[in-house]
Amino acid sequence: MPARNILVINCGSSSIKFALVNEAHSQFPLHGLAECLGSRDAVLRWQRGGEKDSLMLPQGDHRAALAQLLPLVQGASGGTLHGIGHRVVHGGERFTSAQRLTPEVIAAIRAIAPLAPLHNPASLQGIDAALSLFPQLPQVAVFDTAFHQSLPEHAYRYAVPETLYRQHGVRRYGFHGTSHRYVSRRAAEMAGLAVGDSSWLVAHLGNGCSTCAVVDGQSRDTSMGLTPLEGLVMGTRSGDVDPNLHGHLARTLGWSLEEIDRMLNKDSGLLGLSGLSNDMRSLEQARERGHAGATLAIEVFCYRLAKSLAALGCALPQLDGLVFTGGIGENSPLVRSKTVAHLRLLHLALDKEANARCVRGVGGAIHVPGHPRVLVVPTNEERQIALDTLTLLEA
Ligand code: AMP
Repeated sequence: MPARNILVINCGSSSIKFALVNEAHSQFPLHGLAECLGSRDAVLRWQRGGEKDSLMLPQGDHRAALAQLLPLVQGASGGTLHGIGHRVVHGGERFTSAQRLTPEVIAAIRAIAPLAPLHNPASLQGIDAALSLFPQLPQVAVFDTAFHQSLPEHAYRYAVPETLYRQHGVRRYGFHGTSHRYVSRRAAEMAGLAVGDSSWLVAHLGNGCSTCAVVDGQSRDTSMGLTPLEGLVMGTRSGDVDPNLHGHLARTLGWSLEEIDRMLNKDSGLLGLSGLSNDMRSLEQARERGHAGATLAIEVFCYRLAKSLAALGCALPQLDGLVFTGGIGENSPLVRSKTVAHLRLLHLALDKEANARCVRGVGGAIHVPGHPRVLVVPTNEERQIALDTLTLLEA
């Protein structure tokens, strides 16, 4: 049987990230981004082989962008596309694994939208457009939350009145599940261990950041909660703050909920602390030049990350390794070494040269022999979504 092709789609409210995944090749034959959808600046950009190209789509929406993508996908896949995998952020408690898109599944994604008001409606726009443009193709939804549905109740419940959970779904869900699942499996392969009999701490550090405790291939705890704001310091998100901060700002400054929401999600994190940038690369460069805000932002980021990893140690029976992934985790020896320096209690120690070597897609072990394993594992959410899609097509 020839290697199969899956188109992976990740829709935002005005964007679509896409990748054509061929099961036999690690490189994507085609990938790109449609952005500013719905505005006069709407544009489709793609890369095929080494070549980049773009097409303006003034006022084009999700459907217009996908329609333009169709011939590109046909060209890059040799004419045969076997299915479409959609990244959907929130699957609530209903979805514990990927699902073939049926009217019932689509209705359930719509019903869960109050838990992810920015993300699920955007995914549904892409799903509607893809179903109308590719009606003959099997399509699958892969949920960011699904991997964390194995959390025990003591890890997912908040200590708030039970009715908020029972009637309104207020609990911890966790996100980045596709990445945590992919890299924990890869880590087990790299270490020569069975994923079903191994325990990992995973730090996914990109613009959004989260940690996860993975035991025997299942998520047992994670740092994000009801929304992707809980937990670590991120690019523009605060992560954990005192929950009374909301009331305090409302009372003392008269801020509205919208203002507080914006501050915590868009103006905080690395950007808020540094007063400079949400981008770790820029902050590392500024730190080199002695910028005090950038230096502090990196210190807080690493300390809070180490604290989260140490806390998640409670969920592990033993530690087979710590995994770094995501744009920062895969590329920042500085963040890795500063974080591990706070984890001496776990007996972690990094090999300086190995740590420096693992950047720009190079993964591997970076610990000092005789100390617990620390791995850099490049994530590949698109590939995991394609694999999940293929598995469902075979079922
Ligand atoms: P992601 O969301 O996974 O694409 O990750 C984005 C984050 O990775 C941004 O904060 C980037 O600054 C960071 N990043 C990418 N390359 C590097 C690098 N070479 N050094 C430090 N941070 C990096």
